[in-house]
Amino acid sequence: MGRRSALIIVDVQNDFCEGGSLAVAGGAAVAQAISAHVDEHGGDYDAVVATADWHVDPGDHFSTAPDFVDTWPVHCVAEGGGAAFHPNLTPALRAVQAVFRKGEHAAAYSGFEGRSDDAEQASLATWLTDRGISRVDVVGIATDHCVRATALDAQREGFETTVLLGLTAGVARQTTEAALTQLEQAGVRLSGQPVVAD
Ligand SMILES: [Zn+2]
Repeated sequence: MGRRSALIIVDVQNDFCEGGSLAVAGGAAVAQAISAHVDEHGGDYDAVVATADWHVDPGDHFSTAPDFVDTWPVHCVAEGGGAAFHPNLTPALRAVQAVFRKGEHAAAYSGFEGRSDDAEQASLATWLTDRGISRVDVVGIATDHCVRATALDAQREGFETTVLLGLTAGVARQTTEAALTQLEQAGVRLSGQPVVAD
């Protein structure tokens, strides 16, 4: 058995795409590009999983006067339409074997803080390790927040981690560039060019 790999699709939810409460420019296009990637390359992965921001009562993660660093407008309320995956991701969802929901009662930027939505209720690290996965590609929204945190945790957990930048969207140029520097310093591989709005 060779080195087994997984694709991790981070937070491609309506609230993080155009029209959502915390919209990232390019989000809908990234959702479509991820579906195309899964269509073309899904068979190359031994597993495909997704993460979802899923808030019940996340405390001061929500604010009516958000600073967009530690506090944010209300977004991805559990079971709400804003928490649903973007329609452009629908084709890719057929390949998704488990969804890892995070942030029920506190801020959670990394998919590795989530639990699977199946009977296992496994952490992402356990789920991947149980399936012999040693290598992951990370894609999704936002490059400078949840993609960054998920990729850093993946590398820290011992997975050989690559961020496919063409399949990510960032909130802002400055924070995205800072995130890419931090990822490289942590040993995460970066592939392709980042998509940033400004
Ligand atoms: Zn959140």
